Amino acid sequence: MSIPFGHHQLHNRYCFEGELELVTPLRISSGRASDETDAPFMRLYDGTLYVPGSSLRGAVRSEIERILASLGHAVTGLRSCTLFEKGGGGDCAEKIREFRDSLKNEEKRKEEDKDKSDDQLIAEYVKKNLCDVCLLFGSASYASRLVFEDGVFVNGRGVENHTRIRDGVGIDRDTGAAKDGAKFDYEVIEPGEKGVCVKFRMVAENIGVNGMDKKLINLILAVLKEGLFLGGKRSGGMGKVKLRPKDGNYFNVTGFESPQTLWKALVDGRQLDNPIEWKEGL
Ligand SMILES: [Zn+2]
Repeated sequence: MSIPFGHHQLHNRYCFEGELELVTPLRISSGRASDETDAPFMRLYDGTLYVPGSSLRGAVRSEIERILASLGHAVTGLRSCTLFEKGGGGDCAEKIREFRDSLKNEEKRKEEDKDKSDDQLIAEYVKKNLCDVCLLFGSASYASRLVFEDGVFVNGRGVENHTRIRDGVGIDRDTGAAKDGAKFDYEVIEPGEKGVCVKFRMVAENIGVNGMDKKLINLILAVLKEGLFLGGKRSGGMGKVKLRPKDGNYFNVTGFESPQTLWKALVDGRQLDNPIEWKEGL
């Protein structure tokens, strides 16, 4: 059965869970100075340290785009709009913007099916024209089908013992150059000897199981196994995290693979997310 594209129906859901281990010190600053440091690590309202899903998502997406750009469509079979930026084709966000504008034009609008709403036409356009990366990760005016959840540290409050304040160099906002004598410090989390891990949870909905979505998800998992740089000072080697194997498994997958399985679980009063066997490999 082909999976209908979009968010208006729920056909399948896959939750990938595991633990990301810090390989090098991690810096993800909250952007607000505290009494202790100019750049404290991200914390929840109650002070719990955490890694925002948006940071992980951004790092994963740019790494995927980098890999696809260097291999090219012929090798991977995957389309990524960063590939075409230089050719003048425009990225997916720009394409949607142009199509949306074209709908405002009466002449142009008449060519399209009159019975369809703008939203329907845009959904059809997106399905036909967006690259594989934007279709999964989302784009301007098209929501993602892949969610990276915020991750708290596995050893809870124990991670406080791994925080350190490091000295940095102040950067002049106007010139981007190092400011003479400007003092600036930031908080990092050190891996330590026993290892520090962050809970990892990624949820994918309405994915086409045999198609490009699955290929991309397997690529994401491969990248996370290999190690990915996250947060600030990446060029200096900071923020390397990787999936940590547990009993030989790097991650668990739960969810449901069809509306029928979801319905059966609901009717039987069972939990909705059940273990799923996920086949890896690209
Ligand atoms: Zn794109």
